Amino acid sequence: MFSTGKGGVHVPHNKNTAGLPAVRMPAPSCVVLPTSMHIGKPANPVVKPKDHVNVGTLIAESTGPVSSPVYSSISGEVTKIDTILTAGGTFVPAIFIQSDGQMTVDESICPPEVNDYASFIEAVRQSGIVGLGGAGFPTAVKLDVKDTSRIQELVINAAECEPYITSDTRTMLDDADDVKAGIELFEKYLNIKKVIIGIESNKPDAIRRMKAVFANDKAVTVVTLPGIYPQGAEKIIIKNTTGKTVPAGKLPIDVGSLVCNVTTIAAIARYIKTGMPLIEKCVTVDGTAVSDPKNVIVPIGTSVKELISFCNINEDDIYKILFGGPMMGISTPDPEAPILKNTNAITVMGLKEATQPKATQCIHCGKCATHCPMNLTTFAFGRAYERNDAEELQRLRVDLCVECGCCSFICPAKRPLVEINKLSKAMLRAYQTKQKQIAAEKEAQEAAEAAKEAKKA
Ligand code: SF4
Ligand code: SF4
Repeated sequence: MFSTGKGGVHVPHNKNTAGLPAVRMPAPSCVVLPTSMHIGKPANPVVKPKDHVNVGTLIAESTGPVSSPVYSSISGEVTKIDTILTAGGTFVPAIFIQSDGQMTVDESICPPEVNDYASFIEAVRQSGIVGLGGAGFPTAVKLDVKDTSRIQELVINAAECEPYITSDTRTMLDDADDVKAGIELFEKYLNIKKVIIGIESNKPDAIRRMKAVFANDKAVTVVTLPGIYPQGAEKIIIKNTTGKTVPAGKLPIDVGSLVCNVTTIAAIARYIKTGMPLIEKCVTVDGTAVSDPKNVIVPIGTSVKELISFCNINEDDIYKILFGGPMMGISTPDPEAPILKNTNAITVMGLKEATQPKATQCIHCGKCATHCPMNLTTFAFGRAYERNDAEELQRLRVDLCVECGCCSFICPAKRPLVEINKLSKAMLRAYQTKQKQIAAEKEAQEAAEAAKEAKKA
């Protein structure tokens, strides 16, 4: 149980933009930069209303080991700092900046000094780079393994298995030199001897390009992954590139693998070369409501509305907007929502694709479990959730669900299984927090009683 490498589903790839180089959109009229676009603690604003900022000015500094700084993506004036609701459903403080139309670069921008492991990790921390494949985990934290002898191989995640999305594909085609430079930095400072680039078979141009770039580098292998979704899930790409299984509850580094998204590694190389922190993203704009799909280079913090307007999408055709692709994307009702550091696609759906089919009773076909790449008994989560049975959810290991959407996609009864899984995971987290709290209180009480007894004696 809980193995990976099996399951998955055949999804329509719809990689309509794979052959289209990214276009740069004009500077937006304003940006809204949330202080939390990453997993971990929000950054702390270091600017105030009426301050003038330039492209690359630090506007919020990281506040702990798992945090990431935020930089201005345009030049202009800070108008306010206010709480917003992000596409992820959380309320966070955000810095509002009105453009001056100049896109003046901050004069402090210069390449960081990097000469060893510690200065490399620190540079990645200062770059503001987080997992750009969608994960949003601060990259410096992931790379800071301390003992680099634990790393047996670097796995470059270039699977890009979600339908429509091609921003990583364009990185491999347009920025292959940055990918190469990024890998060389990892080899040098993280002492990496073996690199595997995993690319799904539906990207023949990217596979050819990477093979050509690394033709004379014996340390780098390009592996063609099967065109079965979800090849990009971390544990699955490790299994399918190295043959190793990451046990439940363990991290990739516990089996000697370090995984990094291909666009993330290219962004690190650019930062080390130029000193310009993460201020823009390549975003695939596609979906059934989009007649002219594109890859667009967008300043982070630009509203979805402004991006959609740049892509000439008819507002009457829009029925649903997703941050991400149709399998794992998160729907936003707010067209003013800003593009985040980890946004790699905006999927705009027309009426047919946006309409949820009516769910019917489970017919116990077991397809959800058969196709689950994490080998979970998906159909059992709903029953446990309805009974409010967190212990059963713990036994079923709902926490291992990677929310890939294969179960919902394959279910003939059209049951909203991913939603149920997310709610079940939240229920389990709340239960585990409560259990920890009860255990801590019990321990404190026992310690107090022991101290009292000792005093008496
Ligand atoms: S969403 Fe979770 S339960 Fe469903 S197939 Fe993916 S990993 Fe399995
Ligand atoms: S795929 Fe759907 S109908 Fe089949 S067992 Fe799973 S939940 Fe039930």
